[in-house]
Amino acid sequence: MSGPGLHRWEVNMASDQSAQSAVKVTVYGRTGSPPCYAIRDFLYRNDVPFEWVELRTDEEARAIGLHGPNDERLPVCVFPDGTRMERPTIRVLTEKLGWFRDPSLSEYDLAIYGAGPAGLSAAVYGASEGLKTVVVERWAIGGQAGSSPKIENYLGFPKGISGAELAERAREQACRFGAEILIAREGVRGEFTAGKRIGYLADGTKVTSRAAICATGVDYHRLEVPNEERLRSAGVYYGAGAGEASLCVGHHVVVVGGGNSAAQATMHFSRYSPHVTLVVRGSSLKSSVSAYLIDRIQSASNVEVLTQTEVVALEGDELLEAVIVRNVQTGEHRRIETHWVFVCIGGAPRTEWAVEAGVARDEAGYLLTGPDLSGNGQPPKPWPLDRPPYFLETNIPGLFAAGDVRHGSVKRCASAVGEGAMAVTFVHRYLSGG
Ligand SMILES: Cc1cc2nc3c(=O)[nH]c(=O)nc-3n(C[C@H](O)[C@H](O)[C@H](O)COP(=O)(O)OP(=O)(O)OC[C@H]3O[C@@H](n4cnc5c(N)ncnc54)[C@H](O)[C@@H]3O)c2cc1C
Repeated sequence: MSGPGLHRWEVNMASDQSAQSAVKVTVYGRTGSPPCYAIRDFLYRNDVPFEWVELRTDEEARAIGLHGPNDERLPVCVFPDGTRMERPTIRVLTEKLGWFRDPSLSEYDLAIYGAGPAGLSAAVYGASEGLKTVVVERWAIGGQAGSSPKIENYLGFPKGISGAELAERAREQACRFGAEILIAREGVRGEFTAGKRIGYLADGTKVTSRAAICATGVDYHRLEVPNEERLRSAGVYYGAGAGEASLCVGHHVVVVGGGNSAAQATMHFSRYSPHVTLVVRGSSLKSSVSAYLIDRIQSASNVEVLTQTEVVALEGDELLEAVIVRNVQTGEHRRIETHWVFVCIGGAPRTEWAVEAGVARDEAGYLLTGPDLSGNGQPPKPWPLDRPPYFLETNIPGLFAAGDVRHGSVKRCASAVGEGAMAVTFVHRYLSGG
């Protein structure tokens, strides 16, 4: 199946357990191809050990029965049992990995939407406290945290832990307590009737529960510059790209953003890339980045920080070729040749479904809960119960919000985990009629 001299990367897996286990999937493809990136990202974020084989010439492609590196059948995935899949969908992959499942119960006590830190924490507490619990996750376990190369401020991990490893440990813990996790399934609509919270998934599957927690976090902001959509996943990536770093050896990498996640990503790429440019719109990193990260950035000889600078254009047809940045003070433009840009400029919640379902949001789309539902300490209107909403309860009784999706949340892992746990306490109170 494989020819000599192919460009292979055994992708560093997040958890020790996966790093020690044999490669499960070999993925053949072309760097800069969006479908290839989607599969690499999905496997990395879900902690599936895999090998990435980049096809650069017709000869290399012919060795696996294809015409060339642009063959439309790419990516090709080959499993240890010999199964070969050409351009598989994520659904087909989850089926092959044995992860695809429909809800096993007609009704759960608790349905959780989102398997980031908040959702996973809620799953651990819910399932361990005897609630029949299901988690619905659109993409991969871990959410934003799963894309973090190293979380260093999470309690109990003095040397830091990769977000994907933290997520994998939480997944295992939740499953041990009996939580059911539906991966690569997206909640798209909610219906709330007396005592029932019904979630409809994108494929039409219905999940019925007595209480629900929305822990869907935020989605990365876009740069909002020309060509961005076309070059998305073809040189322009969102988040810290922990799984891509080993492919950046020898390449100039550009990271955009002035917060901790951009700083973390910069330091991570600096271990692989000869030159990392961090593009920051503000005048310094001081107000937005932890001191320990600033120290590391300043002492890294291959890292350049461009402050008061913004990305104004992206160049490239099928693959990103260059980024144009502009100094906002001087107006000076600079062209940086690169195939790798990672955008870490924060995010916004995707809660459009809430409008139809009558769930109260703030102007930016974050879900309102508890005291935030009414400024004057009175219950929101309409509100059908005698008691006021619990702290993490939305204006729909029995529907809670936890983590980054919630109005006023602190955008940190520990806070999301704390809110997930706290939401379960309120779920118990709600279910016991309180
Ligand atoms: C690169 C990076 C590095 C970071 N580093 C740190 C750090 O070092 N320390 C720290 O404290 N914080 C860090 N953060 C912030 C931290 O990761 C977030 O605050 C935290 O992940 C929020 O957790 P959450 O569960 O609320 O949401 P998220 O992590 O955003 O998870 C939400 C999940 O919901 C899923 N989802 C969305 N919509 C749907 C839907 N309709 N149906 C089903 N599922 C859905 C998403 O796919 C996602 O998996 C970092 C963030 C980033 C991006």
